Amino acid sequence: RAKDDGRGVHFAYQPSLHADAEERRQLEFSLRKALERDELMLNFQPVVDAKTEKVVSFEALVRWHSPEHGLVSPAKFIPVAEDTRLIVPIGTWVMQNACREATLWPDHVKVNVNVSPEQLVQPDFVESVVEALSHSGLDPHRLEIEVTESIFLNDTEVARVALSKVMALGCQVALDDFGTGYSSLGYLRKLQFSTIKVDRSFVQGAAQGSSESLAIVRAVVAMAQSLEMKTTAEGVETEEEAKLVRDMGCDRIQGFHFGRPMTSVDACALFDRDYQALRA
Ligand code: C2E
Ligand code: MG
Ligand code: MG
Ligand code: MG
Repeated sequence: RAKDDGRGVHFAYQPSLHADAEERRQLEFSLRKALERDELMLNFQPVVDAKTEKVVSFEALVRWHSPEHGLVSPAKFIPVAEDTRLIVPIGTWVMQNACREATLWPDHVKVNVNVSPEQLVQPDFVESVVEALSHSGLDPHRLEIEVTESIFLNDTEVARVALSKVMALGCQVALDDFGTGYSSLGYLRKLQFSTIKVDRSFVQGAAQGSSESLAIVRAVVAMAQSLEMKTTAEGVETEEEAKLVRDMGCDRIQGFHFGRPMTSVDACALFDRDYQALRA
């Protein structure tokens, strides 16, 4: 092997691992320029009230149109952004633009913004939220930050303090992808989350008749109710799934069945129709 010309060895030796590392390196290289080249965009996905099916919020979801890589999914580039700390400027950009966009919607409609652990533990995180609110003029009560259980793995106390300060501003905090992380439930006593978002995997499992998934969704809803938190069912794709999570007592529903992530123009148009319907 050692006396091979190199090429054969190279390709015989874990080619997929090499390709992944190389792809990541190229993504990182492009991502460093994404902000200044204005390649990021926000999409907004409606969250509806389970009973009235009216839009109560939009979740801001970042999109990256890279000239080199095409449309890159956040599932792919957010981890790269997190590893390289590019998530900090990207997160600030998301927060500012999401707040600004929300001022165009009716006052009762909130905006949900995803925040990564690395962002949360920045010393100026709270200040950046204050700035996004004051620059946009958005009422703090209309901002709900989404964090995952992963924030409780490291720097737990720093994260808790930052979230408490943001809550003191009047913002809300939702626990995203609930049940997919590795944390204990102890932290639920330490922070008054407004909302628990039940991960799509449980919704899907329940709809497919998994008694375990059904039991888990029921237990999460019961726990949330006794802790005075709301529940949002994520990833609801069909009428059957909507009915199921509504019957199980979820307060809100998000998923392709009610709306895909859309441009801000389409999000605003949705309200024009709503309002026309209301006025008619
Ligand atoms: P998430 O916060 O749990 O967002 C929900 C994801 O589920 C979105 O994927 C959304 O498009 C997708 N989704 C919604 N309804 C359905 C459905 O009915 N069926 C299916 N199959 N999928 C559905 P997306 O936009 O690709 O984002 C993936 C993840 O990337 C997000 O998961 C979030 O963790 C992260 N992310 C997105 N935008 C941001 C951001 O601005 N900042 C940070 N830190 N993370 C972000
Ligand atoms: Mg989210
Ligand atoms: Mg989620
Ligand atoms: Mg999810």
